[in-house]
Parts: sequence; C-alpha cells; structure tokens
Amino acid sequence: MRVMKFGGSSLGSAEAIRRALRLVEARRVERPLVVASAFDGVTDALLHLADAARRSDAEVLERGLQQIRQRHLATLRHLEPDALARQETERALNSWLVYLERELAETFRSQRFTARTLDSILPVGEFLSTLVLAAALRGEGLGVHLVDARQWLITDSRHGEARPMLARVRESARAQISPWRDRGHVVLTQGFVGSDEVGNTTTLGRGGSDLTATTLAAVLGAEMVEIWTDVGGIYDKDPRQFPEARRHAHLTYDQASQLAQLGAQILQRGCVAPAAAANIPIVVRNTFAPEAGETWIGNLEMRSGEQAAAM
Ligand code: ADP
Ligand code: ASP
Ligand code: MG
Repeated sequence: MRVMKFGGSSLGSAEAIRRALRLVEARRVERPLVVASAFDGVTDALLHLADAARRSDAEVLERGLQQIRQRHLATLRHLEPDALARQETERALNSWLVYLERELAETFRSQRFTARTLDSILPVGEFLSTLVLAAALRGEGLGVHLVDARQWLITDSRHGEARPMLARVRESARAQISPWRDRGHVVLTQGFVGSDEVGNTTTLGRGGSDLTATTLAAVLGAEMVEIWTDVGGIYDKDPRQFPEARRHAHLTYDQASQLAQLGAQILQRGCVAPAAAANIPIVVRNTFAPEAGETWIGNLEMRSGEQAAAM
C-alpha cells in the first residue's frame, strides 16, 4: 500500500490536476491512499479573507469569496463536463462556501481572531479541493471514497500547530479508512486538517499535509509515501532560486529532517519523524515530470528492495 500526497503546487489548474489524477489512476490496482492539499494559493487566499474579516473590509471579503467559489466551480466543470454528474459535488461545494461565509461573518462581527478561529477557516481549502478531486476521479471510473480527515486524524488541541496523537489516529484510521480500501476503493482524504479529542477542528501548521501523509502511512503500515510536488526531489538549495542546485538522490531520515528543520520548504518540519519511526521510505517526485528524478528518503540499506517495489 502506498500513500500519495499532492501538494497545492500539483493542484494549480485543471490541467495540473489531470496530471495528478493520471498518476493515481496508474496505481489504481494498488488502491493508494491519497492525501490532498488545497488548490495552489487557496490557503493564502483564505488567510487574506480572514484578515479582511478582522479589518471589517466587506469589499475584499465579497470579492475573495467570489473568486474562491468561481475557481472551484470552474475547475470542477473542466474535470467533470457532465452537468448531472456534477450536481451533488456542486451542492457540497456550496455548503462549504456557505459555512465559510458564516465563519467570516462571525469573525467580522465579533472581531475575534484567534488560532482557533483560523482553524475553522483555513482548512476549507482542503475540503473544497478534495470534493473536486473525488468527482474527477469518479468521472474517470475509479471507485473513490472521500474520508473527512477529522474522523481519523485525532490531534492535541494546539490550534494552528496541532500534533497527531498516534495511538488514537491508528485506531480511527483502521476504523474509518481500512474498510473502504478493503472493499476496493481508492481512499481520498484532506491533508493539513484534523480534530482534537472533543471534536474541535485543528490544523497541523502551514505545509502540514506532508505530516498528514506520513502519519497515515505510519499508522496503517504503508510501504511508501510519495510526496508529489512541482520539483523532482530535494536539492541542496531551492532549485527555483538557484538553477545550479543539485538534487539529492538519497537522504537518510536524519538528513531529510535536518533539511526540513533548516527551512527547506519542500517538506514540512516534523513530517519525517512518523515515517522514520515506522521505517517507511518517503519519495519526493515531480507531478509534472514523474520520470525526471526523485529523492528517496529512508534507510539506505533498504533502498534496493524498496526501489523494486516502487516501480
Ligand atoms: P507543495 O505545494 O507541493 O507542498 P511546496 O511549495 O510546499 O509544495 O514545496 C515545493 C517547493 O519547495 C518547490 O517549488 C521549491 O521551490 C521549494 N524548495 C525550497 N527549498 C527546496 C529544496 N532544498 N529542494 C527542493 N525544493 C525546495
Ligand atoms: N494548504 C496548507 C498550506 O498551504 C497545507 C499544505 O499545503 O500542506 O499550508
Ligand atoms: Mg508543501
């Protein structure tokens, strides 16, 4: 079993999403577990909206909400041209947008702007994106089950930087995810978001979908975690800023962890630990050029066996 995580950078347009979906389809017989972030830029847009609500800027709020609505509906139309097949997803998108509008209105009214408030607003990006992805995968004939991450990713209550409670997560992932996979479904779930023990929505911090993916892999004993992004691996420096950057073909867990701690944006700080503890390799690959190289993170002595399994 493998976990495939798609970051926002892989979900920037209908065309980009098609590429991501093709990668899932290519692995459909394995019934991968798919973790998805919000569409590119949507979490930033939501932060901006929350700030506009705090500043009581009704005009920015109105415009921003419209943009988010249009973007998701248009992407859905591109990916699922059949109007009838789209209806249910459009209804679900609309209820999330109504929820978002209410939360923002409440912030606007109360002028309360805490980490907990943000946790009720920011993950809407992931709830919207996964609805569109699920519809698109179904449109391609895949059996997909969308699981609300709050049902399985139980965390502590540190809003904005929550940490998964592994024993609880293991129990709930086994109950909420494994049965669907056993029935032959590709399971899709949101990155970044979880729930504390009393049901409050929490988030894992920016870039937190990486941690969602490694946590899921660890508790269900996956064979590997694929981090699909817009660069073909981890480099010695940011390849977007430094064209001469060199890709690391292999990294140990410690090396990858150190790079993430040093602020290499490619992996969220802390996401390596669950995979390392369970000895599960993490492979970083480019959604737009899957064959053009990768970084393999894990115990190097496992490398040859895992390489064969990854092909
Ligand atoms: P995603 O949306 O897929 O999670 P991120 O933006 O979080 O993607 O991470 C990918 C980006 O990380 C790349 O576009 C790249 O510019 C940046 N980056 C920063 N440092 C590095 C590095 N050392 N190696 C590779 N990419 C890096
Ligand atoms: N969407 C969230 C963010 O932009 C989480 C993630 O992408 O991993 O930070
Ligand atoms: Mg990221």
